Amino acid sequence: MIKAVNIHKQFNQLEVLKGISLTVDKGEVIAIIGPSGSGKSTFLRCLNRLETIDQGSIEIEGDVLVTDSGQGKVNYAPEAESRQICRRMGMVFQQFNLFPHLTVLENVIEAPITVKGCKREDIVPQAEELLHKVGLAAKRDDYPSRLSGGQKQRVAIARALAMNPDIMLFDEPTSALDPELTGEVLKSMRKLAEEHMTMIVVTHEMAFAREVANRVIFMDNGEIVEAGSPDAVFGSPSQARTRAFLQRVV
Ligand code: ATP
Ligand code: MG
Repeated sequence: MIKAVNIHKQFNQLEVLKGISLTVDKGEVIAIIGPSGSGKSTFLRCLNRLETIDQGSIEIEGDVLVTDSGQGKVNYAPEAESRQICRRMGMVFQQFNLFPHLTVLENVIEAPITVKGCKREDIVPQAEELLHKVGLAAKRDDYPSRLSGGQKQRVAIARALAMNPDIMLFDEPTSALDPELTGEVLKSMRKLAEEHMTMIVVTHEMAFAREVANRVIFMDNGEIVEAGSPDAVFGSPSQARTRAFLQRVV
């Protein structure tokens, strides 16, 4: 579970997050939608401490990553502890960021071995299972340069899952893909959702959001403007800004 309260984030003078609060229960799939520059990526990056926040508090699976100490100050958990907390979240980016000099299998087992100290012989069978799950068992010994974008992204998903996260964060995982390759990535994500993985997905794929998410969050200009069931947000949005955005994108 994730509990983010009143998150504020500024880059220089630019206020990018203006008090975002979001609680995500175990097994929930949240889709975050909204225009470019609205702060979606920044919010995800704050959750796993790729960015630090200026105000607010974040709890991950009951552990306090950061608390608000008032007067516009925050207290982060000590370095080792906050790294541990953030490790519970796997993240998949728009760009796949695979290691080009490592095979598919080596990409998947790299972090479990170097970060978690897993033994190779223990993690390899798990990695093979994950590759099977994303439909890439046959590619285990290939290098990323030989894969399609969709295949690369599925390796990135397997790699994140190999760390055995409680939560998966996806930042527009299909935006860099040719349209015909998005389906295979969405299918892997749909499978994860069906297995009740807790997920936050920033996406432009409105059909996917509508079908897979339990809750849709519409962000605009650093705020959550509207949140609700997919049917409510897509079917009968209550805010003019949501309606205007949906008219543009669907
Ligand atoms: P998109 O849909 O285009 O990915 P987004 O909703 O993910 O947009 P963010 O990437 O979170 O938006 O950016 C929100 C705002 O913060 C933008 O105005 C962006 O220029 C600014 N921003 C993001 N990262 C930084 C940074 N490291 N330094 C300065 N400004 C930043
Ligand atoms: Mg973004």
